[in-house]
Parts: sequence; C-alpha cells; structure tokens
Amino acid sequence: SNFIIAIDGFSSCGKSTVAKALAKKLNFVFVDSGAMYRAVTLFFLRHSINLRDQESVSDALKQIHIDFIPNTEQTQIFLNDEDVSLEIRRMEISNYVSEVSAIKEVRIAMVAQQQKLGQKRNIVMDGRDIGTTVFPDADLKIFMTANSEVRAERRYAELTAKGEEVTMEEVKANLEHRDRIDSTRAESPLRQADDAIILDNSDLNQEQQLAFVVEEYVK
Ligand code: C5P
Repeated sequence: SNFIIAIDGFSSCGKSTVAKALAKKLNFVFVDSGAMYRAVTLFFLRHSINLRDQESVSDALKQIHIDFIPNTEQTQIFLNDEDVSLEIRRMEISNYVSEVSAIKEVRIAMVAQQQKLGQKRNIVMDGRDIGTTVFPDADLKIFMTANSEVRAERRYAELTAKGEEVTMEEVKANLEHRDRIDSTRAESPLRQADDAIILDNSDLNQEQQLAFVVEEYVK
C-alpha cells in the first residue's frame, strides 16, 4: 500500500523545505496543506466573506476548487484554475489565514481534499494537523520546531526577497499570532502527535535536516 509522511509544526519552522526535499529524494508527491488554507483565505478576502456568517462560508466553500501541480520547485497551486502560487504568500493572507483555518466547515472541506490526495499515492504532506487529524495512521510523522528568532529571520528573508515591504516586528507579530490561534482553536489544533519524531532545526542546515528525515524513513 502507499506510504504517507506527515510533517507538522509551528509557522516558519522550515517544514515545506524539508518536505519538498524529502519528496524529491523519495520520488513521492509533496502536498503543502497550508497553501490550501491560504487559497481559501484569498477567495474569502476577494469576496469579502464574513467569517461569522455560516451560510456565506458554506456557499463560498462550494465555489472553491483547488488544484496542485505537484513537484515543481515552488508549490504551484490553482484556485479555480487561476495560478495563485505567489499571491497566497503575501502578508495580507498570512494576517488572515489562521482565522479562516479555525472555521470548522473550512477544515472539514480541506481535510477531505487532503485525504483524497493521499489515496493510492506515496506522499509527503506538511501542515499543522496532518499527523493528528488528516492521517492519524501516517507511516512516518515528524514534528518540527525551531527557536522563534530563527523562524522570524527566515520568514523575513523570504518575504523581503520577494519584494514585500515588511518589518521584522510585523513578521514576529504575525508568527506569534498564527501560532497562538493555530494551537488554541477548537477544531484540530496544532499539536504534536504522540508517535511523532521531533526535529528541532534551529542549528541544522537543509542537508542535515534531510539526512535526519531520510534516516527516520529507512529505519
Ligand atoms: O504552512 P503555512 O504557514 O503556509 O500555513 C498557513 C496557515 O494555514 C497556518 O498558520 C494555519 O493557520 C493554517 N493551516 C492549518 N492546518 C494545516 C496547514 C495550515 O490550519 N494543516
């Protein structure tokens, strides 16, 4: 049967970098579940969906179709056939995505799609609740952490490289905000699965991180 690798953790721990490298190495499909929540958030923002209005939220979800082109260098994600890969990384989306992701209907819809993507395929999926809710029986679960300075610096470098005008303070505040909401929401909050292996990458380069997860895979 197919092999599923779940990589969870706080924001900007470098999950998708490791997940992508691992998928490439093993020839698995990489799925960035956060990109899906970001695409939903983009749709909600564009259509001014009131998050407290259940009916609007359900209607909006019915109009959302998300596709991936797997295994490209940058995750390529399409929202109703429009390539939104770059737009979903913007700060405006980051500032709003955790509120959207805390909505029960949103999670039900996304989790169903994620589980479908993991049928009959070997995949590496990164997110917040992959090892706990989406694939509680995943074959390998990694929980990534890194100290908050390192995480903020990484995110800041990423955003400014893309020409986004942000300050370090804004980036730090956003990471703290998302981590708080993500780990305290009622619906499948971010937490480490009991059988997850911890990878603290504060002092590890990308090669070392990949070597660590590959070793766990072959064990
Ligand atoms: O992974 P990334 O930082 O792009 O995820 C953006 C946001 O999407 C997270 O802060 C979280 O609110 C939400 N998310 C989630 N569950 C996942 C993946 C992401 O709630 N499995």
